[in-house]
Amino acid sequence: MNLIEFLKKQNIIDEKKSEKFIKILEHYSENDVLYPYVIKDLDLTINEYERLFNELEKRDYVSTLYIIQCPYCNELGNSYVDEDDIPFLDHCRFCEAEFNHQENYITAYRLYFNYAEEVDVIEELNAKIAANQERIMEITEEIHNLENARKTLQLENINFITTKNELMKNRNESKAYSKMITRGSNVKFLGKYLDNKKLGLKCFRCGEDMEFFDVNGKIMGACPGCDAEVQMEFDK
Ligand SMILES: [Zn+2]
Ligand SMILES: [Zn+2]
Repeated sequence: MNLIEFLKKQNIIDEKKSEKFIKILEHYSENDVLYPYVIKDLDLTINEYERLFNELEKRDYVSTLYIIQCPYCNELGNSYVDEDDIPFLDHCRFCEAEFNHQENYITAYRLYFNYAEEVDVIEELNAKIAANQERIMEITEEIHNLENARKTLQLENINFITTKNELMKNRNESKAYSKMITRGSNVKFLGKYLDNKKLGLKCFRCGEDMEFFDVNGKIMGACPGCDAEVQMEFDK
């Protein structure tokens, strides 16, 4: 709660007086000094004045200041926070008259609206909101990058699986395949009959049906029964 909120809530002085006080305080800032002639404008009874300012002091909305006032020229002199610190005899710094300081002072109040804490909380929240927003942007970016990485990996896996299935088909259907993959990095089983050439081959050694392969772009025949291999040449 700040000073203004307290004045609205308290019931030591009536609403009219507290509204007047609040209106006056509009011209004051944190740490400003409230002088007695201003307080006089509030028309408080002695009882109201004492109870209100005791309460304000207890809640740290004001702190008492003892300000020396010269009885000869009326100028204000040093101010003291503690009544016990006021010297007994001293000179006025304006008219240089010597007088009893302990009997010539006014009581004023330093104001603490207590706004500062609330402003700090708002600034703290602003900082937190900004930090979170920044992190949200970062996470969004990370999600985007991860999503791209996921898509890339998924596509790569689809290619791996397609290749694997093709290779497994070659290995399962072809008896000579495992032998042929030592001939090249890119070996494809074409079957025992070349459809586009209407061609089948029997092994000249053992009579088995030969298998056809595409080995790095060349067509080869291999016998699944023995070691016989042939390289085919076709006219374009
Ligand atoms: Zn003086
Ligand atoms: Zn053979």
